[in-house]
Amino acid sequence: MKILVAETAGFCWGVRRALDQAVDLAKKIDGPVQTFGPLIHNAQVMEELTEQNIHSVENLADIHSGTVLVRAHGIRPETFAQLRATGADVYDATCPLVRKVQKIITKYANDDYDVVIVGDDHHAEVVGLRGYTKGQCFVVADEKEAETLPSFDKVCVVSQTTQNDDTFARTVEVIKQKARVLRATNTVCEPTRDHQRETIDLARQVDLMIVVGGRHSANTCRLADLAAKEGARVLHIETDGELQESEVAACQTVGVTAGASTPEWMINRVVEKLEAFRPETTSRLNTYLKQAMGVLVASNVYVGLGAATLTLAASLLLQPTVGREELWPLVSAAGLFILAMHTVNRYQERSHYSGWGSFSPRVFQRFQQIMLWVGVIALACALGLALSLGFGQGLALAAFGLLGALYGVKLVPLSWARHITGIRRIKDLPASRDLATALGWTVAAAIVPLLTVGSSSPLRAAGVIGFVFLFVFLRSALIGVRDVQGDKIMGMETLFKVVGKRRTKAVLVGAVATLTALLLGLTFPWHGLPLAAFVFTVVPYTCAVCWSYHQRLLPKGAAGEILVDGQFLVAGAMAFLWHLNRQ
Ligand code: SF4
Repeated sequence: MKILVAETAGFCWGVRRALDQAVDLAKKIDGPVQTFGPLIHNAQVMEELTEQNIHSVENLADIHSGTVLVRAHGIRPETFAQLRATGADVYDATCPLVRKVQKIITKYANDDYDVVIVGDDHHAEVVGLRGYTKGQCFVVADEKEAETLPSFDKVCVVSQTTQNDDTFARTVEVIKQKARVLRATNTVCEPTRDHQRETIDLARQVDLMIVVGGRHSANTCRLADLAAKEGARVLHIETDGELQESEVAACQTVGVTAGASTPEWMINRVVEKLEAFRPETTSRLNTYLKQAMGVLVASNVYVGLGAATLTLAASLLLQPTVGREELWPLVSAAGLFILAMHTVNRYQERSHYSGWGSFSPRVFQRFQQIMLWVGVIALACALGLALSLGFGQGLALAAFGLLGALYGVKLVPLSWARHITGIRRIKDLPASRDLATALGWTVAAAIVPLLTVGSSSPLRAAGVIGFVFLFVFLRSALIGVRDVQGDKIMGMETLFKVVGKRRTKAVLVGAVATLTALLLGLTFPWHGLPLAAFVFTVVPYTCAVCWSYHQRLLPKGAAGEILVDGQFLVAGAMAFLWHLNRQ
């Protein structure tokens, strides 16, 4: 069975933007964030938002004060005024593309035009748009309803942003016959258009089209209708739990698409379930392998192993003559420290992560108490080992450990935070996750070894520190892109969220180039078999990982993380080979 997934399936950027705003607000303020109406028509995401203290309020009468966020659909201008009159702090997450329609209506309404909106009369966006009209306003679903409209002297026609181009065009043709002056603007938004175009293309190629999304989501239902019109058998599901093997058993090709309110992790779960139905992926060996990879990743053992092997490479790069008796405690301390920090961080984030789709958070939530104990013991062992190497080494790890523990703690009072762009926690700093991860690894894998084994020159020491920092920053930024695109992280913690897709790509390319230059520089002073040339093999590996991610070839779930963090293992393995060869 072939599985084809629509590239644009899932959250549109307007929905993602509103969710980001809600999550950022919830992190900054002390009380709950009230959204005026559900932020998104997706029961699973709404549950997750409730866990993060973001609640939907339906009636104005229920709002007395606190913080209110207007959702992407927008609201009537007078409703804005009423919300402000309640004494609440009102934030606006109206999608800019909806705001554009509101402006068009306002402009023509001010020139005494009547308004026709092509859309669903009861949809929140349309209810909001009606508030910007002044004269007569009509809402019609299609050309048939347009037949019942009266004649107009001057009329402005717009569409609900999630309408369909063809329906809009046909409806305008009917209204043309009834108006002296007609100003029609097709305001179907680009993300909707892309979703619909891709769904139609896919529906023509498959035996079964699976549409994932809320049953009350208008745009999801429209995708299902469009696919059905193309003659495809359509299955509209809200979660992977509804998918039965019998429904896909006879299919050669299955298409998967999703509405603008469906997170990518939900789509991934559906795809994973479909893959599990394929006989070739359900062999026992395959299942064991997947489980083993999952346990290694979810328990943070794999990331600890990565830190240990990177420390081996960094220690040898600093001091090629270092003996095994010094290498072992260095490598073990770094591995245990990184395992502990990732575990503590994940524990702090447990409510945010719960159910956000990927394997690791789900497994972590199930075994969180055991994992927390493993993390605490690992941290104690790491600190003990570092202290055995020297006081400075113990202090360096302890200081960064404390910083890591405070990462998600609200350190600045809300009243002060208002004056410093809302930053209350280390986590609120732009790209904090990528920078803090790179810094933590650098302390464990480069600074502690430097304090222990020294370096032949300050330049070499700086080169190795730069190599470790950049290498880990690259990995973290790449995982950040994956997480954001998988709708798992919302807020400004990752580089991708702060600077956007194109600039992140430029930063990644720049980081690979600098990494290459650093490794070439480290190669320079030695004769014979240079260690840095061995470690250099990580550069093509890293490039291959970045490229396969860009081409959407990187496997999802634990296998993807194994491959991404595999670059540390490659660096360590090459350094170890060199070490063996030298003896
Ligand atoms: S569907 Fe379009 S208009 Fe609506 S929130 Fe998404 S991007 Fe904005």
